[in-house]
Amino acid sequence: MPAARQAWLDATEQFIGNPSSPHQIGARADAALEQARENLGDILGCDPADIVWTSGATESNNIVLHHTARVLDAGAEVWISAIEHPCVIQAAQYYFPKRRRLIPVTAEGVIDLEWLTAELAEARPALVAVMAANNVTGVLQPWREALAICRQYKVPFFCDGVQWLGKMPAQGLGDCDFLSGCAHKFGGPRGIGFLKCPSHGQLRPLILGGPQEEGRRAGTENVAGAISLVAALKAREQAMAAGESKSRFGWRADFERRLIDALPEAIIVGAGRKCLWNTVAALMPDVTPQHRWVVKLDNLGFAVSTGSACSTGKEEPSHVLCAMGFKPAEAGRVLRFSSGWETTADEWTALADALSKVYAEAHPMKVQTAA
Ligand code: PLP
Repeated sequence: MPAARQAWLDATEQFIGNPSSPHQIGARADAALEQARENLGDILGCDPADIVWTSGATESNNIVLHHTARVLDAGAEVWISAIEHPCVIQAAQYYFPKRRRLIPVTAEGVIDLEWLTAELAEARPALVAVMAANNVTGVLQPWREALAICRQYKVPFFCDGVQWLGKMPAQGLGDCDFLSGCAHKFGGPRGIGFLKCPSHGQLRPLILGGPQEEGRRAGTENVAGAISLVAALKAREQAMAAGESKSRFGWRADFERRLIDALPEAIIVGAGRKCLWNTVAALMPDVTPQHRWVVKLDNLGFAVSTGSACSTGKEEPSHVLCAMGFKPAEAGRVLRFSSGWETTADEWTALADALSKVYAEAHPMKVQTAA
Protein backbone atom coordinates (compact mmCIF):
# COMPACT_ATOMS: atom_id res chain seq x y z
CA MET A 1 0.00 0.00 0.00
CA PRO A 2 1.48 3.41 -0.98
CA ALA A 3 0.98 5.08 2.43
CA ALA A 4 2.64 2.18 4.26
CA ARG A 5 5.47 1.99 1.74
CA GLN A 6 6.19 5.71 1.97
CA ALA A 7 6.04 5.62 5.78
CA TRP A 8 8.50 2.72 5.80
CA LEU A 9 10.91 4.45 3.39
CA ASP A 10 10.80 7.74 5.31
CA ALA A 11 11.28 6.02 8.68
CA THR A 12 14.14 3.90 7.37
CA GLU A 13 15.96 7.05 6.31
CA GLN A 14 15.07 9.24 9.28
CA PHE A 15 15.31 6.83 12.21
CA ILE A 16 18.52 4.94 11.74
CA GLY A 17 19.27 4.62 15.46
CA ASN A 18 18.53 1.81 17.86
CA PRO A 19 15.67 2.99 20.12
CA SER A 20 17.48 1.58 23.15
CA SER A 21 20.65 3.61 22.52
CA PRO A 22 21.32 6.53 24.88
CA HIS A 23 22.47 9.05 22.24
CA GLN A 24 20.28 11.48 20.31
CA ILE A 25 20.02 9.32 17.20
CA GLY A 26 18.70 6.51 19.38
CA ALA A 27 16.38 8.85 21.26
CA ARG A 28 14.85 10.03 17.98
CA ALA A 29 14.13 6.44 16.95
CA ASP A 30 12.68 5.76 20.40
CA ALA A 31 10.38 8.79 20.20
CA ALA A 32 9.13 7.70 16.76
CA LEU A 33 8.51 4.17 18.03
CA GLU A 34 6.57 5.47 21.04
CA GLN A 35 4.53 7.75 18.79
CA ALA A 36 3.61 4.72 16.68
CA ARG A 37 2.62 2.85 19.85
CA GLU A 38 0.43 5.76 20.89
CA ASN A 39 -1.23 5.95 17.47
CA LEU A 40 -1.93 2.22 17.48
CA GLY A 41 -3.40 2.52 20.98
CA ASP A 42 -5.73 5.26 19.67
CA ILE A 43 -6.89 3.12 16.76
CA LEU A 44 -7.50 0.04 18.91
CA GLY A 45 -8.90 1.95 21.86
CA CYS A 46 -6.38 0.79 24.44
CA ASP A 47 -3.55 2.10 26.59
CA PRO A 48 -0.41 2.32 24.39
CA ALA A 49 1.58 0.92 27.32
CA ASP A 50 -0.28 -2.36 26.75
CA ILE A 51 1.16 -2.78 23.25
CA VAL A 52 4.24 -4.90 22.56
CA TRP A 53 5.83 -4.93 19.10
CA THR A 54 6.52 -8.39 17.74
CA SER A 55 7.65 -10.00 14.49
CA GLY A 56 4.09 -10.97 13.55
CA ALA A 57 0.99 -12.69 14.78
CA THR A 58 2.49 -16.17 15.05
CA GLU A 59 4.89 -14.78 17.62
CA SER A 60 2.20 -12.72 19.38
CA ASN A 61 -0.08 -15.74 19.65
CA ASN A 62 2.73 -17.95 20.94
CA ILE A 63 3.57 -15.33 23.57
CA VAL A 64 0.01 -15.45 24.90
CA LEU A 65 -0.05 -19.23 25.27
CA HIS A 66 3.48 -19.29 26.70
CA HIS A 67 2.61 -16.57 29.22
CA THR A 68 -0.57 -18.35 30.25
CA ALA A 69 1.32 -21.61 30.74
CA ARG A 70 3.82 -19.80 32.98
CA VAL A 71 1.24 -18.16 35.24
CA LEU A 72 -1.38 -20.87 35.17
CA ASP A 73 -2.64 -22.56 38.30
CA ALA A 74 -1.89 -26.26 38.17
CA GLY A 75 -4.95 -27.94 36.78
CA ALA A 76 -6.48 -24.86 35.15
CA GLU A 77 -7.47 -25.19 31.51
CA VAL A 78 -7.36 -23.00 28.41
CA TRP A 79 -10.33 -22.98 26.07
CA ILE A 80 -9.69 -22.12 22.46
CA SER A 81 -12.11 -22.10 19.56
CA ALA A 82 -11.83 -25.15 17.31
CA ILE A 83 -11.23 -22.90 14.29
CA GLU A 84 -8.23 -20.91 15.55
CA HIS A 85 -5.22 -20.44 13.31
CA PRO A 86 -2.71 -23.34 13.52
CA CYS A 87 -0.27 -21.14 15.47
CA VAL A 88 -2.83 -20.92 18.31
CA ILE A 89 -3.96 -24.54 18.06
CA GLN A 90 -0.40 -25.88 18.04
CA ALA A 91 0.88 -23.59 20.78
CA ALA A 92 -2.06 -24.63 22.96
CA GLN A 93 -1.37 -28.27 22.16
CA TYR A 94 2.30 -27.78 23.07
CA TYR A 95 1.79 -25.91 26.34
CA PHE A 96 -1.45 -27.57 27.46
CA PRO A 97 -1.56 -31.06 25.96
CA LYS A 98 -3.98 -32.29 28.62
CA ARG A 99 -5.56 -29.02 29.72
CA ARG A 100 -6.89 -27.62 26.46
CA ARG A 101 -10.53 -27.66 25.46
CA LEU A 102 -11.88 -26.75 22.04
CA ILE A 103 -14.85 -24.40 21.90
CA PRO A 104 -17.17 -25.97 19.31
CA VAL A 105 -18.50 -24.14 16.27
CA THR A 106 -21.83 -24.35 14.47
CA ALA A 107 -22.26 -25.79 10.97
CA GLU A 108 -22.00 -22.21 9.70
CA GLY A 109 -18.56 -21.78 11.25
CA VAL A 110 -19.47 -19.53 14.18
CA ILE A 111 -18.32 -20.32 17.70
CA ASP A 112 -21.03 -21.79 19.88
CA LEU A 113 -21.83 -19.02 22.35
CA GLU A 114 -24.39 -21.16 24.14
CA TRP A 115 -21.71 -23.75 24.84
CA LEU A 116 -19.36 -21.05 26.13
CA THR A 117 -22.04 -19.52 28.36
CA ALA A 118 -23.09 -22.88 29.80
CA GLU A 119 -19.53 -24.10 30.39
CA LEU A 120 -18.35 -20.86 31.96
CA ALA A 121 -21.18 -21.12 34.47
CA GLU A 122 -19.58 -24.39 35.62
CA ALA A 123 -15.83 -23.85 35.33
CA ARG A 124 -13.20 -21.09 35.12
CA PRO A 125 -10.48 -21.59 32.51
CA ALA A 126 -7.29 -19.51 32.70
CA LEU A 127 -7.88 -18.20 29.19
CA VAL A 128 -10.56 -18.17 26.49
CA ALA A 129 -9.36 -17.65 22.90
CA VAL A 130 -11.75 -16.68 20.10
CA MET A 131 -10.46 -15.17 16.86
CA ALA A 132 -12.26 -12.13 15.41
CA ALA A 133 -12.66 -13.50 11.88
CA ASN A 134 -11.71 -16.86 10.48
CA ASN A 135 -8.92 -17.05 7.93
CA VAL A 136 -10.32 -20.02 5.98
CA THR A 137 -14.02 -19.15 5.75
CA GLY A 138 -13.97 -15.39 6.40
CA VAL A 139 -16.85 -15.88 8.88
CA LEU A 140 -16.95 -13.13 11.49
CA GLN A 141 -16.97 -14.39 15.06
CA PRO A 142 -19.02 -12.95 17.94
CA TRP A 143 -15.93 -11.80 19.80
CA ARG A 144 -17.73 -8.91 21.49
CA GLU A 145 -20.28 -11.28 23.00
CA ALA A 146 -17.60 -13.80 23.98
CA LEU A 147 -15.60 -10.98 25.60
CA ALA A 148 -18.67 -9.83 27.55
CA ILE A 149 -19.31 -13.34 28.87
CA CYS A 150 -15.67 -13.74 29.88
CA ARG A 151 -15.76 -10.36 31.64
CA GLN A 152 -18.79 -11.52 33.60
CA TYR A 153 -16.81 -14.50 34.91
CA LYS A 154 -13.49 -12.62 35.14
CA VAL A 155 -11.80 -14.95 32.68
CA PRO A 156 -9.01 -13.42 30.51
CA PHE A 157 -10.07 -13.14 26.87
CA PHE A 158 -7.67 -13.48 23.95
CA CYS A 159 -8.61 -12.45 20.43
CA ASP A 160 -6.56 -13.11 17.29
CA GLY A 161 -7.51 -9.99 15.33
CA VAL A 162 -5.35 -10.74 12.29
CA GLN A 163 -8.09 -11.16 9.70
CA TRP A 164 -10.44 -8.55 11.13
CA LEU A 165 -8.04 -5.62 11.33
CA GLY A 166 -7.99 -3.44 8.24
CA LYS A 167 -11.21 -4.93 6.89
CA MET A 168 -13.54 -4.25 9.80
CA PRO A 169 -13.34 -1.26 12.19
CA ALA A 170 -10.78 -1.83 14.92
CA GLN A 171 -12.47 0.10 17.70
CA GLY A 172 -13.40 -2.10 20.63
CA LEU A 173 -10.81 -4.76 19.92
CA GLY A 174 -8.52 -3.00 22.36
CA ASP A 175 -10.89 -4.06 25.17
CA CYS A 176 -9.74 -7.67 24.79
CA ASP A 177 -7.21 -8.68 27.44
CA PHE A 178 -4.93 -10.06 24.74
CA LEU A 179 -5.12 -9.06 21.07
CA SER A 180 -2.79 -9.96 18.22
CA GLY A 181 -2.35 -8.46 14.78
CA CYS A 182 0.16 -8.23 11.94
CA ALA A 183 0.81 -5.55 9.34
CA HIS A 184 0.99 -7.72 6.26
CA LYS A 185 -2.71 -8.55 6.49
CA PHE A 186 -3.71 -4.92 6.07
CA GLY A 187 -1.22 -3.60 3.55
CA GLY A 188 1.84 -3.09 5.75
CA PRO A 189 5.15 -4.92 5.58
CA ARG A 190 5.80 -8.51 6.61
CA GLY A 191 7.76 -9.19 9.78
CA ILE A 192 6.02 -6.72 12.08
CA GLY A 193 3.08 -7.32 14.37
CA PHE A 194 1.88 -6.51 17.84
CA LEU A 195 0.40 -7.97 20.95
CA LYS A 196 -1.90 -6.02 23.21
CA CYS A 197 -1.62 -7.45 26.69
CA PRO A 198 -2.39 -6.17 30.18
CA SER A 199 0.52 -3.97 31.29
CA HIS A 200 -0.35 -4.41 34.96
CA GLY A 201 0.20 -8.17 34.66
CA GLN A 202 3.83 -9.11 34.19
CA LEU A 203 3.99 -10.66 30.73
CA ARG A 204 6.37 -13.60 30.76
CA PRO A 205 8.61 -13.10 27.72
CA LEU A 206 8.90 -15.87 25.18
CA ILE A 207 12.03 -14.36 23.62
CA LEU A 208 14.73 -13.71 26.20
CA GLY A 209 17.59 -11.25 25.98
CA GLY A 210 17.68 -7.47 26.31
CA PRO A 211 15.20 -5.35 28.25
CA GLN A 212 13.38 -3.97 25.18
CA GLU A 213 9.60 -3.51 25.28
CA GLU A 214 9.69 -3.15 29.08
CA GLY A 215 11.19 -6.62 29.37
CA ARG A 216 8.26 -8.19 27.55
CA ARG A 217 9.98 -8.98 24.24
CA ALA A 218 13.75 -8.95 23.76
CA GLY A 219 15.40 -7.82 20.55
CA THR A 220 15.95 -4.52 18.75
CA GLU A 221 12.60 -3.11 17.70
CA ASN A 222 11.64 -2.81 14.04
CA VAL A 223 11.02 0.95 14.09
CA ALA A 224 10.25 1.44 10.41
CA GLY A 225 8.02 -1.64 10.47
CA ALA A 226 6.00 -0.34 13.43
CA ILE A 227 5.58 3.09 11.82
CA SER A 228 4.53 1.50 8.54
CA LEU A 229 2.10 -0.84 10.35
CA VAL A 230 0.36 2.15 11.89
CA ALA A 231 0.30 4.05 8.58
CA ALA A 232 -1.33 1.06 6.88
CA LEU A 233 -3.95 0.55 9.57
CA LYS A 234 -4.72 4.25 9.74
CA ALA A 235 -5.28 4.35 5.97
CA ARG A 236 -7.58 1.33 6.19
CA GLU A 237 -9.58 2.84 9.01
CA GLN A 238 -9.99 6.09 7.07
CA ALA A 239 -11.09 4.23 3.94
CA MET A 240 -13.63 2.22 5.99
CA ALA A 241 -14.94 5.41 7.57
CA ALA A 242 -15.41 6.78 4.04
CA GLY A 243 -17.60 3.74 3.26
CA GLU A 244 -15.25 1.75 0.98
CA SER A 245 -16.33 -1.64 2.36
CA LYS A 246 -19.95 -1.40 1.21
CA SER A 247 -19.28 -2.03 -2.47
CA ARG A 248 -16.77 -4.77 -1.62
CA PHE A 249 -19.42 -6.70 0.32
CA GLY A 250 -21.61 -6.36 -2.78
CA TRP A 251 -18.92 -7.75 -5.10
CA ARG A 252 -18.42 -10.72 -2.81
CA ALA A 253 -22.17 -11.46 -2.75
CA ASP A 254 -22.34 -11.12 -6.52
CA PHE A 255 -19.43 -13.53 -6.95
CA GLU A 256 -21.15 -16.09 -4.74
CA ARG A 257 -24.33 -15.82 -6.82
CA ARG A 258 -22.40 -16.25 -10.06
CA LEU A 259 -20.47 -19.19 -8.64
CA ILE A 260 -23.63 -21.04 -7.63
CA ASP A 261 -25.33 -20.21 -10.95
CA ALA A 262 -22.40 -21.64 -12.88
CA LEU A 263 -21.68 -24.58 -10.54
CA PRO A 264 -24.95 -25.50 -8.83
CA GLU A 265 -23.28 -28.34 -6.90
CA ALA A 266 -20.79 -26.01 -5.25
CA ILE A 267 -21.38 -25.14 -1.60
CA ILE A 268 -20.48 -21.77 -0.14
CA VAL A 269 -19.02 -22.35 3.31
CA GLY A 270 -20.66 -20.21 5.98
CA ALA A 271 -23.35 -19.04 3.55
CA GLY A 272 -25.75 -16.64 5.18
CA ARG A 273 -23.32 -15.56 7.88
CA LYS A 274 -21.63 -12.20 7.94
CA CYS A 275 -18.18 -12.70 6.43
CA LEU A 276 -15.15 -10.62 5.57
CA TRP A 277 -15.60 -9.02 2.16
CA ASN A 278 -12.36 -10.49 0.84
CA THR A 279 -12.69 -14.20 1.62
CA VAL A 280 -14.94 -16.85 0.10
CA ALA A 281 -14.53 -20.55 0.80
CA ALA A 282 -16.47 -22.99 -1.35
CA LEU A 283 -16.65 -26.74 -1.67
CA MET A 284 -16.22 -27.42 -5.34
CA PRO A 285 -18.07 -30.12 -7.28
CA ASP A 286 -16.35 -33.48 -7.26
CA VAL A 287 -15.74 -33.51 -11.02
CA THR A 288 -12.33 -31.87 -10.84
CA PRO A 289 -9.77 -32.71 -8.15
CA GLN A 290 -8.89 -29.78 -5.92
CA HIS A 291 -5.30 -29.41 -7.18
CA ARG A 292 -6.54 -29.37 -10.81
CA TRP A 293 -8.76 -26.40 -9.98
CA VAL A 294 -5.73 -24.63 -8.55
CA VAL A 295 -3.53 -25.35 -11.58
CA LYS A 296 -6.19 -24.50 -14.15
CA LEU A 297 -7.19 -21.29 -12.40
CA ASP A 298 -3.52 -20.38 -12.04
CA ASN A 299 -3.14 -20.78 -15.81
CA LEU A 300 -6.06 -18.40 -16.25
CA GLY A 301 -4.35 -15.84 -13.99
CA PHE A 302 -6.06 -16.54 -10.66
CA ALA A 303 -4.08 -17.57 -7.58
CA VAL A 304 -6.45 -19.46 -5.31
CA SER A 305 -5.70 -21.66 -2.35
CA THR A 306 -6.94 -24.93 -0.96
CA GLY A 307 -7.17 -23.89 2.66
CA SER A 308 -5.20 -21.48 4.75
CA ALA A 309 -1.93 -20.56 3.07
CA CYS A 310 -0.13 -21.69 6.19
CA SER A 311 -1.32 -25.26 5.69
CA THR A 312 -0.51 -25.49 1.99
CA GLY A 313 1.64 -28.50 1.25
CA LYS A 314 -0.08 -30.48 3.97
CA GLU A 315 -2.55 -33.06 2.77
CA GLU A 316 -4.77 -33.06 5.84
CA PRO A 317 -8.22 -31.53 5.41
CA SER A 318 -8.75 -28.15 7.01
CA HIS A 319 -9.40 -28.45 10.75
CA VAL A 320 -11.76 -25.48 10.36
CA LEU A 321 -14.06 -27.32 7.98
CA CYS A 322 -13.85 -30.51 10.02
CA ALA A 323 -14.86 -28.51 13.12
CA MET A 324 -17.89 -27.28 11.16
CA GLY A 325 -18.97 -30.89 10.64
CA PHE A 326 -17.78 -31.46 7.07
CA LYS A 327 -16.45 -34.94 6.39
CA PRO A 328 -12.73 -35.07 5.48
CA ALA A 329 -13.60 -35.90 1.84
CA GLU A 330 -15.88 -32.85 1.66
CA ALA A 331 -13.33 -30.63 3.36
CA GLY A 332 -10.83 -31.82 0.75
CA ARG A 333 -12.94 -30.11 -1.94
CA VAL A 334 -12.57 -26.61 -0.54
CA LEU A 335 -11.14 -23.73 -2.51
CA ARG A 336 -10.49 -20.38 -0.89
CA PHE A 337 -10.77 -17.17 -2.88
CA SER A 338 -9.46 -13.99 -1.40
CA SER A 339 -9.19 -10.51 -2.81
CA GLY A 340 -7.09 -7.50 -1.99
CA TRP A 341 -7.91 -3.81 -1.78
CA GLU A 342 -6.94 -3.32 -5.42
CA THR A 343 -9.25 -6.10 -6.63
CA THR A 344 -12.08 -4.76 -8.79
CA ALA A 345 -15.68 -5.87 -9.34
CA ASP A 346 -14.68 -6.93 -12.88
CA GLU A 347 -11.96 -9.18 -11.51
CA TRP A 348 -14.44 -10.94 -9.21
CA THR A 349 -16.69 -11.47 -12.26
CA ALA A 350 -13.76 -12.72 -14.32
CA LEU A 351 -12.96 -15.24 -11.58
CA ALA A 352 -16.54 -16.54 -11.63
CA ASP A 353 -16.28 -16.86 -15.43
CA ALA A 354 -12.98 -18.72 -15.10
CA LEU A 355 -14.51 -21.17 -12.62
CA SER A 356 -17.38 -21.72 -15.00
CA LYS A 357 -14.93 -22.37 -17.86
CA VAL A 358 -12.86 -24.88 -15.88
CA TYR A 359 -16.03 -26.65 -14.79
CA ALA A 360 -17.40 -26.79 -18.34
CA GLU A 361 -14.13 -28.25 -19.65
CA ALA A 362 -14.12 -30.92 -16.97
CA HIS A 363 -17.76 -31.82 -17.36
CA PRO A 364 -19.17 -30.74 -20.73
CA MET A 365 -22.20 -33.04 -20.52
CA LYS A 366 -23.34 -31.61 -17.22
CA VAL A 367 -23.19 -28.07 -18.51
CA GLN A 368 -25.11 -28.94 -21.70
CA THR A 369 -27.84 -30.70 -19.65
CA ALA A 370 -28.16 -27.75 -17.31
CA ALA A 371 -28.43 -25.36 -20.28
N1 PLP B 1 -3.68 -15.70 12.79
C1 PLP B 1 -4.42 -15.71 11.67
C2 PLP B 1 -5.92 -15.70 11.79
C3 PLP B 1 -3.82 -15.71 10.40
O1 PLP B 1 -4.58 -15.72 9.30
C4 PLP B 1 -2.40 -15.73 10.33
C5 PLP B 1 -1.71 -15.76 9.03
O2 PLP B 1 -2.27 -15.99 8.00
C6 PLP B 1 -1.66 -15.72 11.53
C7 PLP B 1 -2.33 -15.71 12.73
C8 PLP B 1 -0.16 -15.71 11.51
O3 PLP B 1 0.29 -14.42 11.24
P1 PLP B 1 1.81 -14.10 10.83
O4 PLP B 1 1.91 -14.47 9.38
O5 PLP B 1 1.97 -12.62 11.06
O6 PLP B 1 2.71 -14.87 11.68
